[in-house]
Amino acid sequence: MLTNRSKVVVNKEMTFAEKIYIPAIVAGLMITIKHFFKKKATINFPEQQKPISEVWRGLHVLKRDEQGRENCTACGLCAVACPAEAITMTAAERKKGEEHLYREEKYAAVYEINMLRCIFCGLCEEACPKEAIFLTNRMTPSDTLRDNFIYGKDKLVEGIAPEERVDISYRARAHRKEVE
Ligand code: SF4
Ligand code: SF4
Repeated sequence: MLTNRSKVVVNKEMTFAEKIYIPAIVAGLMITIKHFFKKKATINFPEQQKPISEVWRGLHVLKRDEQGRENCTACGLCAVACPAEAITMTAAERKKGEEHLYREEKYAAVYEINMLRCIFCGLCEEACPKEAIFLTNRMTPSDTLRDNFIYGKDKLVEGIAPEERVDISYRARAHRKEVE
């Protein structure tokens, strides 16, 4: 014997109560009923949402300027800064007559973020010299298909109409707090 903690196991005959399992079932049900009346730790997301921190970093937005032109110039700095290699883009040159669409001479014809790779660190926002990409207080919706987590410009660029603009003043406030 290596220790004195050995325990002799006895193959004891079950009592009648143990054989019919009813006391065990009742004990299990009591635990279930007890939890039924307790305050739930879960919420019905997405219908219900928990309050989030002021420094929360959620779903990205690609911003437009006051005239509705895309700010992004496809410089690639956000992609280089991204530790998760979640950002890819294809640059294109702005053609004559497209000045109302793109602020700079170069723009992102394709801009994609793989939300399954993203760790919402915010480094893309920090790296951007054009104030084009921001993380917002919106959540990335759940989905069952991996392809649906590749967010292209259709999901990232904010709308032109005033009611379609994404408010990022919240991020600016959070950033000020981080700096202070
Ligand atoms: S938040 Fe971080 S991980 Fe996500 S795309 Fe930006 S840099 Fe990459
Ligand atoms: S979002 Fe900003 S950093 Fe990224 S490519 Fe566009 S301008 Fe460059």
